[in-house]
Amino acid sequence: MSSNKNPRSIILTGDRTTGALHLGHYVGSLRNRVALQHQHDQYVLLADSQALTDNAHDPKKIHRYVVEVALDYLAVGIDPAISTICVQSALPALAELTVLYLNFVTVARLERNPTIKDEIQARGFGRDIPAGFLCYPASQAADITAFKATLVPVGDDQAPIIEQTNEIVRRLNRQTGKALLPEARALIPAIGRLPGVDGKAKMSKSQGDAIPLTASDAEIEAAVRRMYTDPNHLRASDPGQVEGNVVFLYLDAFDDDRDEIASLKERYRQGGVGDMVLKHRLAFVLKTILAPIRERRALLARDRNFVMDILQTGSRKAREITENTKKELLEALGIFRIELGP
Ligand code: ATP
Ligand code: MG
Repeated sequence: MSSNKNPRSIILTGDRTTGALHLGHYVGSLRNRVALQHQHDQYVLLADSQALTDNAHDPKKIHRYVVEVALDYLAVGIDPAISTICVQSALPALAELTVLYLNFVTVARLERNPTIKDEIQARGFGRDIPAGFLCYPASQAADITAFKATLVPVGDDQAPIIEQTNEIVRRLNRQTGKALLPEARALIPAIGRLPGVDGKAKMSKSQGDAIPLTASDAEIEAAVRRMYTDPNHLRASDPGQVEGNVVFLYLDAFDDDRDEIASLKERYRQGGVGDMVLKHRLAFVLKTILAPIRERRALLARDRNFVMDILQTGSRKAREITENTKKELLEALGIFRIELGP
């Protein structure tokens, strides 16, 4: 009898089109997407509508980054022949589901979401929080459920958002009396949060502490030079601290030679390894990873029509799926709409 241990899952993941993708995206999500796309049905969403929730003053930038982020996807190896790349604003069902879901979540619950709390603080909104921003977990719940996704490869900042999505799913399923929407599982890698080059908690497009996937060799070297190590490690012969040392954290995330890194940590702890040795190694590893991505991207960027075709084809397919889910859900909830006729 054939066992079905590894059935295909539906994957939904994506990025806000607020800026160039960076090493944090690579570690937190892109690597998993490239690996998972062969075994699963993967949808990758360019979240341009969600990007407006804290960028309404600059819609041109958000629009421009739709193609730029798509180029980043293609350059890292997301294959449009097996993954569906689509644009949020081309999928009106997502906006309709967002409005519907806002009735299934309270303001207090949104305000308690730890990721939202952190992001409000990082953006310095004070009391002037755009309502769309506070409510973006409902929009992410709409994105995930419209595709009936069960697997969401993300960085660890997204875990509370997936948790909130599942709460909304349970409320809707209770209301309809049917298990129409599946709950989703966040797939978070071992290093689920890459700090910024300045050691800040999370590398982020909005905070100016990122190494973009397009960084040149010289930019990579400059960023690595600026990284914190152990402030008390003044001479190579001094014993150094590995924990909290940003360079080691990056080596853990990017250097595949685990044995060599373990030995380097041991020698660093004892004393005898200079910071420049670590930094040279890290710069070399990052340059080796980013050079082919940068080259592929430069080639792809010459033909924007090709990218636009991919986005249109993907969005057409996604539109059908998301409209179907919306229709099923409205019917199950008993929400009827008048027909307008031709
Ligand atoms: P913004 O500052 O505009 O919010 P961002 O850099 O946080 O941008 P998002 O588009 O919000 O990027 O996130 C897209 C995906 O990348 C999410 O799954 C998120 O968890 C992941 N991600 C972003 N930054 C990091 C990071 N530093 N480490 C790990 N994963 C990350
Ligand atoms: Mg973010």
